[in-house]
Amino acid sequence: MASKRVGGTVFSTVEKHPSHRIRLRPASGNAALFHMLFAVHFGGAYREQAFLCAGRARQFLFQDAMMQNYFFENADLQPVGEKFYVRSEHGESVPLRRIRLTDTPACFGGAKNPDFFIPDVTGPYGDAGSGDTVVLPCRQRPVPGSGTQLARARSGEVTPEMSFVAARENANLEGFKASLLASGNAKLTARLLPLLERIEPWSGERVRRQIAARTAVIPASFCHPELEPTVIGRHFTTKVNANFGTSSSSKDWREEGRKLQEALARGADTVMDLSTGQCIRETREMILRASPVPVGTVPLYETLERAGGDPLAMTWEIFRDVMEDQARAGVDYMTIHAGLLEAHVELTRQRLTGIVSRGGGMMARWMRSFRRENFLYEHFEEILEIARHYDVTLSLGDGLRSGSIYDGNDKAQFAELKTLGELNRRAGERDVQVMIEGPGHIPMPGVALNSVKEAELCDDAPFYTLGPLVTDIGAGYDHITAAIGGAMIGAAGTAMLCYVTPKEHLGLPDSKDVREGMVAFKLAAHAADVARGVPGAILRDHLMSDARFEFRWADQFSLALDPARAREYHDVTLPGAASQKAHFCSMCGPKFCPMKLAHDLFDGEN
Ligand code: SF4
Repeated sequence: MASKRVGGTVFSTVEKHPSHRIRLRPASGNAALFHMLFAVHFGGAYREQAFLCAGRARQFLFQDAMMQNYFFENADLQPVGEKFYVRSEHGESVPLRRIRLTDTPACFGGAKNPDFFIPDVTGPYGDAGSGDTVVLPCRQRPVPGSGTQLARARSGEVTPEMSFVAARENANLEGFKASLLASGNAKLTARLLPLLERIEPWSGERVRRQIAARTAVIPASFCHPELEPTVIGRHFTTKVNANFGTSSSSKDWREEGRKLQEALARGADTVMDLSTGQCIRETREMILRASPVPVGTVPLYETLERAGGDPLAMTWEIFRDVMEDQARAGVDYMTIHAGLLEAHVELTRQRLTGIVSRGGGMMARWMRSFRRENFLYEHFEEILEIARHYDVTLSLGDGLRSGSIYDGNDKAQFAELKTLGELNRRAGERDVQVMIEGPGHIPMPGVALNSVKEAELCDDAPFYTLGPLVTDIGAGYDHITAAIGGAMIGAAGTAMLCYVTPKEHLGLPDSKDVREGMVAFKLAAHAADVARGVPGAILRDHLMSDARFEFRWADQFSLALDPARAREYHDVTLPGAASQKAHFCSMCGPKFCPMKLAHDLFDGEN
């Protein structure tokens, strides 16, 4: 391994292509192991060379790194339709996907059908012609210390990010409307045009007003240039976050890159790296450089690692250094467990399942042992300083979220929520964007109350919930129990849902679990959008129903949230080209297909 000593530190890099240099941290500790893993992960022969980085000693970076593209030659990951760009008000290209629907068969009246557009978060991975490795393009970003999105919104400025997310939220509904009118499809036009005419498109200025009012956030660190911005707030489409990351019992951190791309393929709006195992920094760095969507972390996890795994050895100083390092690396939002106070811990004594948040449990142990106040609460002003400098959005963590429906909506949970409201207001004074995290396990009658209380106590800041799971007996299927609660709380106004996978409570999810969890939660989020009347959300449903009633199987697959799964299930019993035109499927068969009978019902009269 080539290396160079600078002062007392040895530096090294690997290089696959002269223009794509990958810088590595000082070659000590895990770095040697990481060099080896990295070479295996990304394949090919790397030429290693010395690299001088005296100004950023101990800083570990991938830069302009080639990322393995799992979309390449993997039909299951291929996004539907073709990439399509619209221009933002600032002239940036905003990626969407165009779904070209097939014509209505002559037997059903014969008509053209419009092109439909959906948001695209797959970055360069899903691009036609991309190979087995990709390099993420970078956007221009202000230097750290510039005005945050919130500060600029308050000053009346529409930022490039506000324009970008406005175009992304609109998903080219204007283009869809034009395509619908041009199709001459009278039946579809009569049904959809009234809906389209009620929609007021997002503009950069309308987004700015939401950011300035602190009812929405754009998590976009100054140090994450690979990011394509997204907006999170109750007036926008409901977003879904996917978690992954290593644990001490998962040794293969390379799988996390695969999971990231699996999540993007299913439409993850943000991702969180929750690594607690080996190579925390390396895994995070790889995810940041590989992610076109906002990346979140829980800095307390790395604090624990740097404290040698002992919660009682954690200090504010260690946390501060971790937060600053993560902010400098480009993390867009961070879960901060500053609302869990020493007085709240006693409120959990009678709980059935105690404290189930990892970060909450660590802080509770620390406070109880030292009989001291939460150092994150005591140093919150310094946390705000770091967040403002890098424009990191704070996701104020719910360390006391309930871990069972017995504990749902208890005093401890709402006492912490009240403190989160106080912290949210303090963050607003420093121009720091905030989301509020929520539960957990909540029985159905109590789900909406969480959204109501959050809006009341936290001034309508974007709410970000885990599920909630509406029953405790779903082991193996908790993506379903959580998606039920997710749809309910989304309909009540929650801005972002954190997905849950079938492995919840049982083990670390693999990429298959990521797919199941993502699809369940994209469905929950979409159902919530339909319930809330989010402009344009219901159009996809109507197009799907139209395709279903006309037995346009290819369009049904394209409009489904998981097209590959829909096609696979259909083709199990009716494979081949002829079955793609059949006026039935194997569920009811040709003689009993009610859709077919419904068509025949009025045949004599027409
Ligand atoms: S056979 Fe049954 S399930 Fe299949 S298309 Fe007809 S109505 Fe639908």
